[in-house]
Amino acid sequence: MKRYYRLPRIRRYQVPCVNRRTLVSQAQRRRATTAAEGLGLSYPVVDHHYDAIVVGAGGAGLRAAVGLAESGLETACISKLFPTRSHTVAAQGGINAALGNMTEDDWKWHMYDTVKGSDWLGDQDAIHYMTKAAATAVYELENYGMPFSRTEEGKIYQRPLGGQSLDYGKGGQAYRTACAADRTGHAMLHTLYGQSLKAETNFFIEYFALDLLMVDGACVGVVCLSMEDGTIHRMFARNTVLATGGYGRAYFSCTSAHTSTGDGNAMVARAGLPNQDMEFVQFHPSGIYGAGVLITEGARGEGGFLLNGEGERFMERYAPTAKDLASRDVVSRSMNMEIREGRGCGAEKDHIYLQLSHLPKEMIHERLPGIAETANIFAGIDITREPIPVLPTVHYCMGGVPTNWKGQVISVAEDGSEKTVDGLYAAGEAACVSVHGANRLGANSLLDIVVFGRAAALHIAKNNEKGMPHLKVPEDIGRDSLADMEEIRMSSGDMPSSKLRMDMQKAMQKDVAVFRTEESLSTGNSAVQQVERDFAERLSLTDRSLIWNSDLIETLEMRNLLTCASQTAKSALLRKESRGSHARKDFGERDDKEFLKHTLSWQKEGEDVRIGYRDVVLKTLDEKECPSVPPKKRSY
Ligand SMILES: Cc1cc2nc3c(=O)[nH]c(=O)nc-3n(C[C@H](O)[C@H](O)[C@H](O)COP(=O)(O)OP(=O)(O)OC[C@H]3O[C@@H](n4cnc5c(N)ncnc54)[C@H](O)[C@@H]3O)c2cc1C
Repeated sequence: MKRYYRLPRIRRYQVPCVNRRTLVSQAQRRRATTAAEGLGLSYPVVDHHYDAIVVGAGGAGLRAAVGLAESGLETACISKLFPTRSHTVAAQGGINAALGNMTEDDWKWHMYDTVKGSDWLGDQDAIHYMTKAAATAVYELENYGMPFSRTEEGKIYQRPLGGQSLDYGKGGQAYRTACAADRTGHAMLHTLYGQSLKAETNFFIEYFALDLLMVDGACVGVVCLSMEDGTIHRMFARNTVLATGGYGRAYFSCTSAHTSTGDGNAMVARAGLPNQDMEFVQFHPSGIYGAGVLITEGARGEGGFLLNGEGERFMERYAPTAKDLASRDVVSRSMNMEIREGRGCGAEKDHIYLQLSHLPKEMIHERLPGIAETANIFAGIDITREPIPVLPTVHYCMGGVPTNWKGQVISVAEDGSEKTVDGLYAAGEAACVSVHGANRLGANSLLDIVVFGRAAALHIAKNNEKGMPHLKVPEDIGRDSLADMEEIRMSSGDMPSSKLRMDMQKAMQKDVAVFRTEESLSTGNSAVQQVERDFAERLSLTDRSLIWNSDLIETLEMRNLLTCASQTAKSALLRKESRGSHARKDFGERDDKEFLKHTLSWQKEGEDVRIGYRDVVLKTLDEKECPSVPPKKRSY
């Protein structure tokens, strides 16, 4: 039988090509080498007009695209990767919602756990919104066709995960994490991609977004490079949603994809807008030693536990109640303490064991099949017989583009006054809503991406109609961005970007890590600034072409990572307290008097990072329905 598949529609509104002369600045033209002239360079530019654009096709981007396209708006979704290759595909553990399928549960308990997990840096209006919407979000995914694991009675199965409790921390461990075995992100991403095709989203796949297009402080779209043929595309829309994921790759060892390079965060910085709370980078307790590949917290949720070199379940000492299921910052720090005090595993005593071999084989096959495979491939371990060597590994970026709970991006003036940026939204790991504050709880990100991807789409759909007129833009809008790209492509120094990237990643890994001090952070800041100077003065690219130029793309990504790294290092240096994932040895306690506030960081191209602060939202959306949780000491 013949099968017919419907392909996504790709619309192109061709405009006359503009050559390099009109688009590139005088200064840039002077810098362009004769080699470039020899290649006869020109950038064909294609303009497109949509009602809404989504940059990113991970869970956040696709959920936003589904919502926008379903509302009838002409929607484009731009992605540097094929959508189902986005990092969301790698999510294992699951998605939190108080469905109450395993025990009684309540979204207000989930709200309490999330605020506590965030070490009170999370905005309580957004946490209220997310935890209340969680069940609807999960049932919506179920209705979209997501293949969740099931209980005997056919309900969605839910596993325990770290930092989740019943009855405001008094009722023991909660079973709140809905999952599709240990491949939840895979199931979610494929489901959402199917839905976005059904809703007739226009996909621009393997298009690399270079910069936001801004007019008088409003966002009017993005400029992109088609990696396949080197054409430039100016995508105009009344509303743009940034959903470009995290920047874990600023570090040497991390669980995120090589493509998690903070492109959206750097685009926002270049547009003169702030990022928020960049110093909060989560280390996941169980990255495979050496490889950095993730072993889900679900492994401990299903009964696995950590052992030190003396065979002791040391988490009982650090978190007597929650033990191995304390929140991730607590477990990661405890593991580091064991190693530093000489109780690590292996010949070098430099890692910890994750023991699973006591669990029934059938259970491992049913609930953790991906883990068994991953441990085998990356550590050569049969988890039914041996423990997995693990080490805390960079996993998630709590910081990002500041937004309100509707997804609107917030800009803050030098005098501290705030406003929303017209036409610009952000969602997912690229954004900082902020529901995770200083530390994200496991399985709250898959929830965050669908809830706030949806919220952004709802807000845009409510305030826009199909075909509404766009803002008038200057003819040469996007020119600076192309000039930058041209300068990078033609750079002929003595340092390849791979070397610069390694220098940056090593500096971040060594000095802006799990434990931080004034000294380590000052060293880390200087090292990152040195890489910035090297990037400006010594960068060298060997491939000058525009067709599948991976050297160029990786350098553009490296430039973006560098912006994220320097904002992270500077924000961390100035936060003189310990909160959530930000643990300072020289300021061991949380300091609510001085630092119960979000960090803001600005950095324009070629300039130093500027830091400011803004208040945390300590009230919920409706204090009667859901009272806020006042700050107190956090213990598990
Ligand atoms: C190994 C692993 C396991 C995880 N497990 C869980 C879990 O079980 N539960 C949980 O809640 N969370 C988990 N997380 C976290 C969670 O998966 C991520 O935070 C979340 O999926 C991020 O989704 P996103 O849509 O924001 O971004 P991503 O999925 O990273 O997608 C980013 C998108 O942006 C596009 N993009 C980026 N830059 C550009 C550019 N310049 N131009 C064009 N397109 C661009 C990419 O092509 C991609 O489509 C896990 C994370 C990792 C790394």
